[in-house]
Amino acid sequence: MIKLHDLYFKPFMSAREIDSAVDNLAYQLNRDLAGKKPIFLGILNGSFMVLADLVRKFQHPCEIAFIKAKSYDGTQSTGQVKLEGLDLDLSNRTVVVVEDIVDTGLTVVTLSRKLTQLNPKELLVATLFLKPDVYKQELKIDYVGLNIENKFVVGYGMDYNNLGRELPQLYVQTNKMKNIVLFGPPGAGKGTQAERLKEKYNLVHISTGDVFRYNIKNATELGTLAKSYIDKGDLVPDEVTIKMLKAEVEKNPQAEGFIFDGFPRTNAQAEALDNLLQSMDTEVSGMVALEVEDEILVERLLERGKTSGRADDANEDVIRDRVKVYYKQTAPLKDYYAAQDKYYGVDGVGAIDEITQRLSVEFDKL
Ligand code: AMP
Repeated sequence: MIKLHDLYFKPFMSAREIDSAVDNLAYQLNRDLAGKKPIFLGILNGSFMVLADLVRKFQHPCEIAFIKAKSYDGTQSTGQVKLEGLDLDLSNRTVVVVEDIVDTGLTVVTLSRKLTQLNPKELLVATLFLKPDVYKQELKIDYVGLNIENKFVVGYGMDYNNLGRELPQLYVQTNKMKNIVLFGPPGAGKGTQAERLKEKYNLVHISTGDVFRYNIKNATELGTLAKSYIDKGDLVPDEVTIKMLKAEVEKNPQAEGFIFDGFPRTNAQAEALDNLLQSMDTEVSGMVALEVEDEILVERLLERGKTSGRADDANEDVIRDRVKVYYKQTAPLKDYYAAQDKYYGVDGVGAIDEITQRLSVEFDKL
């Protein structure tokens, strides 16, 4: 995901897919315009990239010229088109207007009206991308590289308030990332709720406990190291946990956000998470905490231990140690996020559905 000004964008089309669309356009032009010595008229600023790639694939003599047009302000078409550079000699020529993208068609329609007054022999319109759902003009678009959905895209010449033109692939506007620290003592129900919330909000769920257990099960080096701490109810050292968490985040470059479950558990981890997210141009949206009394926790964990197969759930002493570790090392993180106005507490006692509902109220705000 990338950020341009105040908006977020996620990958939409790879450079290779764009190249096939250019190939398609070039194929049609080569087929129809051989021997016509066309003038390819690029519409600045957006079309500089497609025009450059397109003419390299055009196998016949041609000329190139540019006109400057502007109809967008931010992500919205303004409904008015400003044109510059119309002092061209096009009389008796085959003119091909080359657009990067046509959506409402306002620019090409205005432009083609003006260009007709310059008496070309033939006036054709070629666009790399067309949004057929929004293009409702009578003017025929003669050549289309690829039809795309009606989404605001940037990259490959297209911009959001002048940023993003240089990107070799296309990006589409998306929501700000939701990066939620799902917090609460062991047994509060974080795992259960995260499973439901990740579906509802399309987020990637990272449970450090689950990653450790996976590694233990597969007898990896990390698993062997972590097991000695986990079996006692202690925390795995920060250095190890932070490295693992980073690797998990990096496995999901397209994520719209994360639910961190069981991380951070120490101040050092919270700082590491801030740094990691900052390096991705995002941040923790909020800490949403399930608040549950200690005695209920111990009961729940003992109950879970009957079926979870987790050694650390089976022994009451280990459970009590985990709760103690939580209060000593992890609970203070509430203050860390509260100081940034990012703490949202939720009553964690009740039916599972009810609690999901309470959590959703907070997730919706973030
Ligand atoms: P959980 O499944 O979240 O209850 O985690 C089980 C155990 O894994 C914990 O008791 C710790 O020993 C270890 N663990 C999980 N997450 C972390 C973390 N962020 N930092 C240190 N240890 C962790």
